[in-house]
Amino acid sequence: MILYSTNDKSVKVSFREAVIKGLADDGGLFMPSELPALPGSFIEKLNNIRLPEIAYEVSYNLLKDEIPAQDLRDIVERAITFDAPLAKLDEDKYILELFHGPTLAFKDFGARFMAKTLEYFNRNSDKEVIILVATSGDTGSAVANGFYKTEGVKVVLLYPSGKVSRIQEQQLTTLGENITALEVEGTFDDCQRLVKSAFSNEQLSSRIKLSSANSINIARLLPQSFYYFNAFARTSDSGEPVIFSVPSGNFGNLTAGLFAEAMGLPVEKFIAATNANDVFTQYIRTGKYIPRPSVRTLSNAMDVGDPSNFARIQALYGNDYGTIKKKIESYSFSDEETKKGISEIQSKYGYIIDPHGSVGVLALDKYFEERGTKENAGIVLETAHPAKFKDIVEDAAGIRIEIPERLASCMGRQKQSKIISNNFDEFKEYLLSSY
Ligand SMILES: *Cc1c(COP(=O)(O)O)cnc(C)c1O
Repeated sequence: MILYSTNDKSVKVSFREAVIKGLADDGGLFMPSELPALPGSFIEKLNNIRLPEIAYEVSYNLLKDEIPAQDLRDIVERAITFDAPLAKLDEDKYILELFHGPTLAFKDFGARFMAKTLEYFNRNSDKEVIILVATSGDTGSAVANGFYKTEGVKVVLLYPSGKVSRIQEQQLTTLGENITALEVEGTFDDCQRLVKSAFSNEQLSSRIKLSSANSINIARLLPQSFYYFNAFARTSDSGEPVIFSVPSGNFGNLTAGLFAEAMGLPVEKFIAATNANDVFTQYIRTGKYIPRPSVRTLSNAMDVGDPSNFARIQALYGNDYGTIKKKIESYSFSDEETKKGISEIQSKYGYIIDPHGSVGVLALDKYFEERGTKENAGIVLETAHPAKFKDIVEDAAGIRIEIPERLASCMGRQKQSKIISNNFDEFKEYLLSSY
């Protein structure tokens, strides 16, 4: 697979290089120069194969030039160890449950696949890789978990102090071993800026082998396309194009869906569901992309004011607003609407949904309402387990929910974090003195 930088099409790298570097030297994101179509026979047999086999076939289609089939099988088998089942709410509304991994959010897919890939590429090197991750909550724990005790890899997590839930903070700060958590006095956008600045800093990159594991890393993104194929195959009238509603923050998940479509998945429409951080929704309305600082909401993993993957979406469609608008619809919802959504989904379908998923269902409903037709089945990506947002969900739905064991186990452990300011020089000093 050849990839280019979204800042400069003439910059070309291999998949291996893109995974290790994370971000191009010019600050651009790596983008596949080609997303080859899967054979028609693959789409036809989707009904009969399960997620791990789908994952293998899709990754083989993309990476066969660089990773031998047997090694790829091994990576996929060790990364995708849990399912992505589809729950049916009614005849044309489904929930794609992406929370069955170890940290109960969809980011487990990307993080685990990336961890196994990076381990594979680094297997003959004696230089340690330092992974920098800015997280608004779920990315960090998924990455930390994916890389936990991985040979030759250390992870430095940056999260905004006081802006993640208590459960998320416990997940981020209690692993120890090769995982360090930095508590940044600032916002998620500050965390992301610190990480981006570190990558473009020559002194740092000459001394330390830095890599990223954010949704900007292409190895995080590709495996997220697997479950779109799986979801399509599990709808009851499968064969017809479907609608995907994707609760979006940094737009990695949505971009992975666009990749799946480019490889041949029949999709009628993508819906980008956003909260008050609606920069993308405004873009779809007006054609103008105007980033602004993020604000806090109940669906905090979507509190992003300048989504990185916007650059990839633009690159995929040749910067053409008309094409993007045709492909992607977008709606934004307030916290009040989100809570009401949780409550209504519970009373109407008996389904307990988390705040992010609630925004996704609201967006799908609005789409159906605006079109006045439900010709195509709609699938909402449920990005996290409701127990991760226990207080909000219990409050909104008036019920009690149980915390799954794999989440409960971190609650009693000691928090270990280092507080730093949002100043780049302080972060840089920390890295130089620690690694
Ligand atoms: C990360 C995250 C999102 C946003 O995903 P993007 O790929 O950044 O758009 C939505 N919901 C949850 C629960 C998340 O953890």
